[in-house]
Amino acid sequence: MERDILEEMRRYGKFLENRGLNLSSHSGNMSVRRGNDLYIKRRGAMMGALKEQDIVKTGVDKDDSGVIIASTEVGVHRAIYQNTSALAVIHAHTPYAISLSLVREEIVPIDDEGKYHLRKVPILDIKESIGSKEVEKELPKVLQDYNAAVVKGHGTFAYGENLEEAYNWITVVESICKVIYLVENLGGDTVREGEW
Ligand SMILES: [Zn+2]
Repeated sequence: MERDILEEMRRYGKFLENRGLNLSSHSGNMSVRRGNDLYIKRRGAMMGALKEQDIVKTGVDKDDSGVIIASTEVGVHRAIYQNTSALAVIHAHTPYAISLSLVREEIVPIDDEGKYHLRKVPILDIKESIGSKEVEKELPKVLQDYNAAVVKGHGTFAYGENLEEAYNWITVVESICKVIYLVENLGGDTVREGEW
């Protein structure tokens, strides 16, 4: 195991946990691409306390080594790497994004920072939303235009050149959703359709 990958995954796993960006302790996943190698969180490993044995090495293209213990979402990660410029992917069960995706067709930022980063946050409505072939097929298409998207009722997927960039996108989307939630609960107007 490359030490730098392990250290990075540990760092961002802790950040996700500490900022409440991942609902339950052992959910979510992350991966890093190095050439044709794919390093991914082990299935059921605890996000906030990753150990060396919690990172599984497999291939970006089909390679069965490690797949049995790799994250249930390994196919989705592979599909993202195969269809985008991603070098790192983070998926988290983000409470505000999940909640908003269940009551909105699309999420349009209303705060200035959110608007600066994203015109909108795409929501994918997929029946079988966890580790399915449909997510593998549909999600990378959306991620060709956006660095982050929300799978309805399931969570946020984000990618970048490294884990820091992917993590940043996770936080940007969650912040956008949190502000909408807060403003709505204060009785404010959160639907500004046609503004873009
Ligand atoms: Zn998930």
